[in-house]
Amino acid sequence: MPDTSPNRRAFLALAAGLVAGCGRESPSTHAVPAVTDAEQAAWLARQRSLAQRFGVAADAARTTPEPPFPVTQPFPELKPLMKLTVRLHPRLPRPDDHRFDQERTASKIGGIFAVPKSPLRGRNGCIPILQLRVEDAPPHLRFDPNTSLMQVYWQVPTHPGEPPIVRTVFIEPDHEKGGTPPLPEGIPLAWVPFPCRVFPERVAEYPSPYLMPKMMRERIAAWKPPDAERSGTDFFLNQLGPAPGTKVGGWPRILGEPNTPTCEQCHRLMDFLMTVATREWDAPTVARWQPQEERGSLDPSGYQSALGLDLGDRHHGIHIYLCNTCPDHPSLAQFT
Ligand SMILES: [Zn+2]
Repeated sequence: MPDTSPNRRAFLALAAGLVAGCGRESPSTHAVPAVTDAEQAAWLARQRSLAQRFGVAADAARTTPEPPFPVTQPFPELKPLMKLTVRLHPRLPRPDDHRFDQERTASKIGGIFAVPKSPLRGRNGCIPILQLRVEDAPPHLRFDPNTSLMQVYWQVPTHPGEPPIVRTVFIEPDHEKGGTPPLPEGIPLAWVPFPCRVFPERVAEYPSPYLMPKMMRERIAAWKPPDAERSGTDFFLNQLGPAPGTKVGGWPRILGEPNTPTCEQCHRLMDFLMTVATREWDAPTVARWQPQEERGSLDPSGYQSALGLDLGDRHHGIHIYLCNTCPDHPSLAQFT
């Protein structure tokens, strides 16, 4: 007999989303201990309590402050490396925001996604991560012809310590169908983001020094920034370079030697697609990247970590890469 306790029903309604192929036919959850009802109840209670304190209205906006000075002032040669990223600013919807669940084709993180017109292969244990409308995408992100939504799903890794298996699809939604079905039972909740609204904002950003040629990297390391407490590399990374937090397009925030993945099918370098972050900013980046609208808040923790993801002590996010050459867009995840 199915468990129809209020917690179970609410969980299924809120977590939503088994769908369409992460590319593996076999379930990956067999090695993972089942989630208990008590854990589900705690997960939902945390989500509700955060939404009450930190829920954001649908018509709100989020604005990144300007950098302390233009990057091209100290480094005019970096001008051609500027890219536009879209900071997604995921925030919990307000508890009375009943439209959120109905908006099946909206840009969002987690929750219920649109169902594609043509069915997709494979369907085991996929957790909905991002649904993005074409008009919210960064300018260089190419959608497949006749599609208007990009959807990113991930699957819990089979072995602890591995990044998730990712699937990216470009679809045209089937408006006749309701939305993606609920998550299967037992999905580890640390990997399921709280369903969030997004507030897309285009921001100009520059690459991490670690992605630059050696000469440029050394020039930045030797530079004396206005904040004398920090090294040139640190100041550049946190104040002038790539945005922290959850974003699509632009530059990945690489904090050490880069390891850009190659596509398993065509062996070309993959393109950076997005970052899913457990925190939108941290102590070194708060001054530059905390949105203006949240600066007066005494406790912004529920804005800073609205997704509620827990990827373990050592990991603060996932970078997702995509092959734009292969027609089925192989995707790959790396811990940040
Ligand atoms: Zn490829």
